[in-house]
Formats: sequence, C-alpha cells, structure tokens
Amino acid sequence: MRLVDTHAHLHFSQFRNDFENIINRFVADGIEFVVNVGIDVDDSVQALSLSKMSNRILCSVGVHPHEAGKVTKDYIDRLRELAQDKKVVSIGETGLDYYRNLSPKEDQKRVFSEQLVLAKELDLPVIIHIRDAYEDAYEILSKIGLPNAGGVIHAFSADTSWALKFIELGAFIGIGGPLTYPKNITLKNVVRAVGAENIVTETDCPYLPPNQFRGKRNEPAYVRFVVEEISKILNESLQDLSSKLLQNAKELFAANR
Ligand SMILES: [Zn+2]
Repeated sequence: MRLVDTHAHLHFSQFRNDFENIINRFVADGIEFVVNVGIDVDDSVQALSLSKMSNRILCSVGVHPHEAGKVTKDYIDRLRELAQDKKVVSIGETGLDYYRNLSPKEDQKRVFSEQLVLAKELDLPVIIHIRDAYEDAYEILSKIGLPNAGGVIHAFSADTSWALKFIELGAFIGIGGPLTYPKNITLKNVVRAVGAENIVTETDCPYLPPNQFRGKRNEPAYVRFVVEEISKILNESLQDLSSKLLQNAKELFAANR
C-alpha cells in the first residue's frame, strides 16, 4: 500500500531528537511523500531546510492565521523567494482561525487574501487552515478564487454542506486523525458524502493523532490508520482506495515535480 501525508510539521521541536527515525519509519511504511508545512516565514525556512533531508519530503511555505498579526511588510516577497526552491510545492498553511483568535480578524483576512494572490501568481496550490471561520473563508475564497493548481481545506472540521461548497470551488478535503475518533460522526458523514475522489490524506503531525494514539505524538506513518478508516466508511478495498488517494495528492502537489 502506497500512502501519502499531505500535512506534517517534521521540523517542529517535538521531532528534534529523532526525526531521522521518523523519516526511516515512514519510508519503510510505504509513504510515497510527505508535505512538510511552515507556519510563518522563519518557520518556513526551517521547514524547507528539513525537507532537503529526504527526496520523499516536499515543502509548503506560508503564514498560519495565528501568526498573521506579526508579519513584516516584506513577508510576501520572502515567501515568493522561498517558493523559488524546487522543493516548495505549495503556499500555506494560511487561512482563518476564529477559535483561538490569536491574531486580529482583519489581519487574518488580509494575510490569507495576500497569500491566495501569491499562490495564483506562482501557480502553486494552497493549503488552507479554517477553524470556526468557514463563512468568512468561503467568502474570501469565492472572491479571489483558488489558484488553477487548486488547494486543500486541511484538517476539515465542518459539515457535509460546507465540504460540498469548497469542493465546488475546486478544493480537496484534507482528512486526518480526527476521522478515527468514534464520536466524530460529522466527519465520517463528510467522507461518505464526498467520496475518495475529493479527499487527500494528512496527519498534521505532531498534532491530531489517530484514536489509538490520543494524547501522544503523531507522525507520518500513522496516516495508515486514517486510510483504514476511510476504507471502512466507503467500503472500498485498501488497495484501490490508497491508489486513488495517492493520485489525488500527486495531482495537487507533485504535478510540477
Ligand atoms: Zn498544520
């Protein structure tokens, strides 16, 4: 089975002591590639430098909504410059997070919009983080539009009707560990409704571990538990399903490689 983790933060401190083991483990487990994601400009530099450790690691550069209030005037130029590296396959994570609201809403909206425009200019897909802000994120996305290269609503956490609206705009739905939580009926319904053709798999590691590892550190190899859960919900064989999911992720992130 060939798997893919479209959202990881392998350069975070939680992996500092053993990231080489983690990389060996996911290579051994048949993970075709991992997209290592930055959350601000300096963090994106770290994300990019770690991605050079393995040809199975790609990189995304961007500013997370939590960091939107702290950007410097030249942050878009710096992201554009980082994106010149061949390892960089997308912009993000960017988006809106009104749950924790760590940056003023106006800053979040502006920084999200500016990164969307940059992704369009560079013809790169975009990784979008939305929490408790689906209304505003949808409005911005419909106004500016997704890049031709597409995008993903990562760690999707809304209901089926929202999922269908974002799919209509051309986005994939990013599904990870929370799908395996027995009580997460809403997300299981989303998967059933949208089908494998609209899903990319992810971990968001070190966060959001699957149910059997709750409270522990997540890692790319655990994406298999997400694929197993999708396979149960959709009643598709692991073999067929995993090849469809890999195809989606390649279409989104690896097209320019
Ligand atoms: Zn993330």
